Amino acid sequence: MEYKLRKKVHDTTVSEEGKVCAAHMRVVNKLTEKKEYLAQTITKGMGKSIHNARYEVNSTIAFFKWYAEEARRVYGDTIPASAANKRMSVIRQPVGVVAAITPWNFPLSMAARKLSPALAVGCTVIIKPSSEAPLSCVELFKIFNEVGLPEGVVNLVIGKSGEIAEPLMKSKAIRKISFTGSTEVGKILIRQSADTVKKVSMELGGHAPFIVFEDADIDLAVDGMINSKFASTGQQCVCANRIYVHDDIYDDFTKRFQEKIAQLKVGNGLDESNQIGSMTNESGIEKVQYQVTDAVEKGAQVLYGGHRLTDGELENGYFYSPTLLVDVKEDMKVCFEETFGPVAPLVRFHSEEEVIKKANDIEFGLASYFYTNDVSRTHRVSEKLEYGMVGVNDPAPFAVQGPFGGVKESGLGREGGYFGLDDYLETKLVSVAIKL
Ligand code: NAP
Repeated sequence: MEYKLRKKVHDTTVSEEGKVCAAHMRVVNKLTEKKEYLAQTITKGMGKSIHNARYEVNSTIAFFKWYAEEARRVYGDTIPASAANKRMSVIRQPVGVVAAITPWNFPLSMAARKLSPALAVGCTVIIKPSSEAPLSCVELFKIFNEVGLPEGVVNLVIGKSGEIAEPLMKSKAIRKISFTGSTEVGKILIRQSADTVKKVSMELGGHAPFIVFEDADIDLAVDGMINSKFASTGQQCVCANRIYVHDDIYDDFTKRFQEKIAQLKVGNGLDESNQIGSMTNESGIEKVQYQVTDAVEKGAQVLYGGHRLTDGELENGYFYSPTLLVDVKEDMKVCFEETFGPVAPLVRFHSEEEVIKKANDIEFGLASYFYTNDVSRTHRVSEKLEYGMVGVNDPAPFAVQGPFGGVKESGLGREGGYFGLDDYLETKLVSVAIKL
């Protein structure tokens, strides 16, 4: 397969009437006009509740708005030279043509998180959304056409991932790959990009620990847990995956958590009264069931759920009951394989030192959470957790202006905030020898 590439970067004038800011703001206006339609497109495409889909559209709008403004601040530097006749400066320039590959779980906002900074600094982009749920990305491209982005600045390719990705990775014209998806595919792309030494950004899988210390506000932690575990039907890279609860409060936390889970309504994501929508595909359901079965065989107990939902109108979807597992141990797959579904496994712990060691004992390092009322512990534990993001009494420490990303096998680079621009820029030193 061959691509027609627009190799040159596009114009990034950023005055009040400047092109990037103005184009991004026109995209913002169109996204805002079509908000509800886009949210429904997301829900119909991958099943999450309409409430979660509206949140995703809002964050898409926020990315374009924020980068429209931040594009004005791509500053350079002047540096003292080491000779009297020299003047040194540093300029930052767009990296060039970018290939972006995105997943199905946030089919619109993951595209926006890449396109908005890349375009803002002047890169041109070829994007490949997941074939599982590409339609909201198609809608975004309709908006790009409506606002009159010049031909070739943004390019959408849909189809078989292997066939599309390989030529992109081989192409010398493409100078950067920005990928969001599984660690497994991320590693393939890192290997493929090595031959042309592309700049690489990887937002990969996670396995977030959620720690509830003995001094925590239990109701706050239970609410945080519901939010972190069940948003997007548990299909988020930042979802709590292992829940560590201190022995002193384990029974109390479990009881209150079980009561809250029992109140959650599962069903068609388009129905406003449902908090949890469908999972996206059969393989997602199978993976969840396999982890639950494995845990039960190794001694875990199911206190709530633990099965597919097929009653009435749920028969034809991919609905899985929110599930509470207790007596969970580290040798169960749910404790070290990404679950990507609505299963909450509770593990007991006895000391701060023990739980930090357990939380870090995994190859992933994306998001982590803990609940405490002790200010010293807040700092101590935040510094020791080997994760790119830490929420303290906060189940959603994410914002467009903050750096999002992971360490270890959860990724390379950061998206969001001014950090997100760095990944699309090269740093160039200019040294000028002058006549004195
Ligand atoms: P995935 O299977 O890795 O797919 C992600 C993207 O890669 C899709 O567009 C997919 O296309 C494409 N792809 C699949 N195989 C490929 C190959 N051999 N070469 C090139 N591209 C290929 O992940 P997913 O199931 O869509 O998403 C779930 C994963 O994404 C989870 O692990 C989750 O943790 C991670 N995720 C991470 C973040 C983050 O910010 N860190 C955010 C969201 C999700 P097709 O679908 O067309 O095959």
